[in-house]
Amino acid sequence: MNTGKRILCAAAAALLLTAASACQSVPYTGRSRMLMTSESYETDSGKQAWDELKKTETISTDATANALVARVGKRIADAADCPNFSWEFLVFRNPEANAFCLPGGKVGVYTGILSSMSCEAELAGVIGHEVGHAIARHGGERMTQSLLQSIGAALLSETTRNEQILQAYGVVSNLGVILPYSRKHEHEADTLGLILMAKAGYDPSSLIAFWRNFSKTGGSSGSFLEKFLSTHPLDSERISAMEKQLPEAMQYYNRAKNKYGKGESLSFR
Ligand SMILES: [Zn+2]
Repeated sequence: MNTGKRILCAAAAALLLTAASACQSVPYTGRSRMLMTSESYETDSGKQAWDELKKTETISTDATANALVARVGKRIADAADCPNFSWEFLVFRNPEANAFCLPGGKVGVYTGILSSMSCEAELAGVIGHEVGHAIARHGGERMTQSLLQSIGAALLSETTRNEQILQAYGVVSNLGVILPYSRKHEHEADTLGLILMAKAGYDPSSLIAFWRNFSKTGGSSGSFLEKFLSTHPLDSERISAMEKQLPEAMQYYNRAKNKYGKGESLSFR
């Protein structure tokens, strides 16, 4: 497609989206970014994709696991303070190490990642990281990029729209290609994850220990963490960036009304 056509397509696509917003900034980090998707478009798409996932993926019947994810997730949700979100938390029975938060607050945790955790704070950190991607609207930013590439994006069939939102939020499903988050988005979700877990009353240093462990085991081939790392690339530079942010996160932790430290020990095998 030539540049002129691309600009026309992008403009047409933008017109088809209600309340398209321009430059806005990410909470806590203050980074400004261009969004052509409205929050309500993202939330509606997230809700539809979530309904579809509930039909296609196997929801875990483990009441203890679901209660745990709901309890820890609620604390992260309270810390995130998003009045427009309609939060839901579910555990999916899937051996892959993955977790996600769709726009509007639909949080899924796979049994494959739950089994690698030794305490509640690690779960709080992973949910915090995923919620961080959602409140920063990283999926909307990715969709904006695809809108800029194709007029078709706004006119896609429902199925393709679901697929697009799932891919935009890094959900592993049977839908095919998963785009890894960019380095910039990963760093930002790390920052937001540390702040949210600390505000929720979980010791943020536990998350850094967990990621360090991830980076050791995730590199080996056939590791169950491979899938998670393929959508959330992790390296020593990311871990040292989080270490630098720890003092700021500790300030939020020190101000938290309830402190849980590492929380309860977990042993889902
Ligand atoms: Zn991530």
